[in-house]
Amino acid sequence: MKIRVLGSHGSDLLIQGPNGSTICRSVGFLVNDELMVDAGTLASGLTLEEQIRVKHILLSHLHLDHIKGIPPLVDNLSGLVDHQVVVASLSSVVAGLQKHVFNDMVFPNFFDLQGPRHSILRARGLEAKKEVSLSGGISITPIPVNHTVETVGFVIRDDSAAWIYSGDTHHTEEIWQVAARTPNLKGVFIEVSFPDSMMDIAIQSKHLTPTLLAQEFRKIGKPDLPLFVYHMKPTVRDQIMQEIAQLEIPHVTILQEGQTLEI
Ligand SMILES: [Zn+2]
Ligand SMILES: [Zn+2]
Repeated sequence: MKIRVLGSHGSDLLIQGPNGSTICRSVGFLVNDELMVDAGTLASGLTLEEQIRVKHILLSHLHLDHIKGIPPLVDNLSGLVDHQVVVASLSSVVAGLQKHVFNDMVFPNFFDLQGPRHSILRARGLEAKKEVSLSGGISITPIPVNHTVETVGFVIRDDSAAWIYSGDTHHTEEIWQVAARTPNLKGVFIEVSFPDSMMDIAIQSKHLTPTLLAQEFRKIGKPDLPLFVYHMKPTVRDQIMQEIAQLEIPHVTILQEGQTLEI
């Protein structure tokens, strides 16, 4: 599987440094050119031709930094494509997206438009822990995690490899048990949002710090498993990176916008 990192942060920010500027964008990963895993960044990271190829959007939860790339995508594709883009998540998440965003007040209801601006989006409710097949030989399984709102992580696999995406989470158990028994597991993506000095905020908002990340990663029981970190809040990014470097996890990568991984 090819994974393109469109956004690897928990918000958006342009950081000016001595060697130029760095753009931080909200979470969004493009798998094999057609499946988005979260959609905090989508249209702003892709050409129009690349956007036309997106067929599925998987959402971990309803928070804005995971969904805000969808309206610009729909705007760009409107009147241009005949296919529908499937938005898949727990039924409550997909229903929430329709109720709170695509409600003809915040944004047109692109789940239910007729005529030349036909409904570009199609909702697909997923059941927790039930695997479903998507196009392109990819199967996904949503696994509930522990966040302030109903949230799932995902097991994403094809015939030869699997990876796990944590979604936004605090201390959790089930997804690590699944990770421990998933065959061909090539890597795990785990969120870290705040440095250890902001532990109180991390606990209140149900996120992880580097110390909590290490605790969660250890639960898998595979110390050599490649670990990919994302969802850092951009303003505290440097501090988080320093703390992660001190964790002594052998194969840890802090994901950056523009990276492409082969899993
Ligand atoms: Zn988030
Ligand atoms: Zn969240």
